[in-house]
Amino acid sequence: MSTSTATKDTNVSNLLPDNNAVFDELDFPRDPDNLYRQTVGQMLVASELIELPHRVKIILAQPKNEIMVHFPVRMDDGHYKLFKGYRVQHNNSLGPYKGGLRFHPDVNLDDVKSLALLMSMKCSLSRLPLGGGKGGVKCNPRELSTGELQRVARRFTSAITNEIGPDYDIPAPDVGTTAQVMAWIADTYQMSQSGANQADGRRVVTGKPIEIGGSLGREKATGQGVVDVLVEMLPEEGIPIEGMKVSVLGFGNVGSWASRILQGMGAKVVAVMDHTGAISNEGGLDCHALAQYCVENGGVGGFEKANTSTASGNNVAAGATAITESEFYTTPVDVFIPAALEQMIKEEQAALINCKVVAEAANAPCTPAGDRALMEKGIEVLPAILCNSGGVTVSYFEWVQNKSNVFWDEETVDRELNKHMIMAARRTKLARQHYDCDMRTAAFIASLEHIGKTYAVRGIFP
Ligand code: NAD
Repeated sequence: MSTSTATKDTNVSNLLPDNNAVFDELDFPRDPDNLYRQTVGQMLVASELIELPHRVKIILAQPKNEIMVHFPVRMDDGHYKLFKGYRVQHNNSLGPYKGGLRFHPDVNLDDVKSLALLMSMKCSLSRLPLGGGKGGVKCNPRELSTGELQRVARRFTSAITNEIGPDYDIPAPDVGTTAQVMAWIADTYQMSQSGANQADGRRVVTGKPIEIGGSLGREKATGQGVVDVLVEMLPEEGIPIEGMKVSVLGFGNVGSWASRILQGMGAKVVAVMDHTGAISNEGGLDCHALAQYCVENGGVGGFEKANTSTASGNNVAAGATAITESEFYTTPVDVFIPAALEQMIKEEQAALINCKVVAEAANAPCTPAGDRALMEKGIEVLPAILCNSGGVTVSYFEWVQNKSNVFWDEETVDRELNKHMIMAARRTKLARQHYDCDMRTAAFIASLEHIGKTYAVRGIFP
């Protein structure tokens, strides 16, 4: 692997994320909208710049294992429904596979593969001794009763029980799964083990409730990590946190925590959109009241009528106004935080977005065309593998605490998280200076250099 800035030997067409020779070699899907092709494309651009050996590129361009299961679940009305679940194990050269489980109607193999690859990149960028994995069940948890959700989680765990393990593959929550779901998974896994394995079984998942070994600070960790990255990166953009305006797409775990923490630091969250609607308040939305409203009502839609917000101050004003989707995107802000799902920022949305910095809290929120359009407008895009790595970092802390049976106070968790986020941000900035590239490519470079060194030292079996 070269450490020089030179790209002289590189085929220029390989520096376009949608057009790399590896795609043909590995017979990739040709659809340019395919998320897996897009994600691998971004990784390959960085690989070309650092002249990562071809053998490592092709290893990383495909996951090690793709597990697909079908399992029946008895629904409340007595009929049986067949569900489809996935667990993709992308790479474990740095440590056990690690990554969330998503319960969502759109879950599909290629998206899970993309998210697993991003987990490998994230863990490497943050120098965690973990690899990348991801999984999910194609279902709509909003349409399931609590009993049905529990049976889906337990039956899925049972279907993949031989594929996961506390030192082999450790799932965590993602979209549509919660600490409660992790508790059911841990319990099901423990029940299926014997002897010492049973006692140790709860380490098989992170993001658990505190009562069964979860870590303090895990619930807010991803949002906190987004804020830690902004604090490190924004001075170079000349944007002070105090008084800055923010808009947030998606107000679930990540979006709502990032918003609440930023509000506490003096920023104004002036517009929020989720799957139920969009709202704004030029004086700053009351994010605490909004988060509570979302828990009770399933989304931000209708908050403008609920009048639950009584707060006021220099970064919060009572009330809200309903706005349209295009009004949401065009709201002028300093920082735009996509915290919903993948591929939501296409060229069309990028053309509307009116900000200086995009902090990707969601995984892969921008398509390559959307990304290019943002860059052409001079918008700095802070990539997901950096911004949202706080979740897996505190998951790693939870795993360490479970292994040692020593539990940390929240102050320790926050302090250690902050250190990891700052170091990951600095690695990204260094790679950007060294290779004179955009932040996304720089984050992939900082990650791939580490994995590349691992392969250089250990070689490829046999
Ligand atoms: P969540 O389920 O708590 O929230 C998802 C949010 O997206 C909700 O507010 C929902 O309304 C919104 N949304 C869904 N479809 C939408 C649409 N069509 N238009 C507008 N909004 C829409 O999920 P989360 O845990 O907050 O995860 C959000 C993103 O962050 C995902 O990409 C996830 O993979 C990523 N992420 C999460 C964690 C974590 O610790 N939870 C860690 C790393 C990355």
